[in-house]
Amino acid sequence: MRFDLITIFPEFFAGPLEHGIVRRAREAGLIEVRVQDLREFTKDRHRTVDDRPFGGGEGMVLKPEPLFEAVESLLGSNVGDVTSQSIREPDTAIVLMSAAGKLFHQETARRYSQLKHIVLICGRYEGVDERVAEHLATEEISIGDFVLSGGELPALLVVDAVTRLIPGALGNEASSQNESFSTSLSSASLPLAANQSAAANGILLDYPHYTRPAEYRGWKVPEILIGGNHAEVAKWRRAAAIEKTRRNRPDLLSRE
Ligand code: SAH
Repeated sequence: MRFDLITIFPEFFAGPLEHGIVRRAREAGLIEVRVQDLREFTKDRHRTVDDRPFGGGEGMVLKPEPLFEAVESLLGSNVGDVTSQSIREPDTAIVLMSAAGKLFHQETARRYSQLKHIVLICGRYEGVDERVAEHLATEEISIGDFVLSGGELPALLVVDAVTRLIPGALGNEASSQNESFSTSLSSASLPLAANQSAAANGILLDYPHYTRPAEYRGWKVPEILIGGNHAEVAKWRRAAAIEKTRRNRPDLLSRE
């Protein structure tokens, strides 16, 4: 899997890719992450990447030319123009990070983890010329309902969420099967208690985890987890996951 990050701040990525699972996945050759400085695709002396918005208004907008040329140089092919758009590789995604995009979910991460090549375009200022969203990007993705100052953090978040789903990236594959957003209410791995059979669909958050000490400042770990009865533990975890989902994210319980 190859990730290409297109940015006007290439140094931004120096630290975040150097830790934990992402670092190990890079070292093991499971992923390759390249950072592309957008300014290398400018042609003027000032290396201009932005310009004033047509129609007036605040701020600056990233120009289309350097972005189209950066992506084309990474793909090794031309995306075309209004008269002839080229056919896209199905195993490549060109993702524009955008507060106005479709929301990124675990499901999106799972879909991306099947691809070979993901190009992430990081916006800045007021955003990016809309022709990039319409004719260059294959998708426009938001990481949540809030506005950040740039697409770099969102792009890193996508790299992280996708990398940990690539086979071999986590030490233990079961970790990505029994975690938040990966367990459905009807999942077989966690047996249904008699009173839980009604809502069959829906997505669950993770169950609560505990480690030693068994008692900390008087707060005790639930007794059942210490007993070692696996069936009882599974039942407790399922009920706790449902309870926590109901409390923090009731919207997930009715999601298909
Ligand atoms: N004017 C835009 C915000 C621009 S913020 C609007 O109101 O929608 C500058 C850049 O930060 C964007 O181009 C995008 O690349 C990035 N960005 C900001 N919030 C984001 C979010 N929630 N998800 C993904 N990218 C985001």
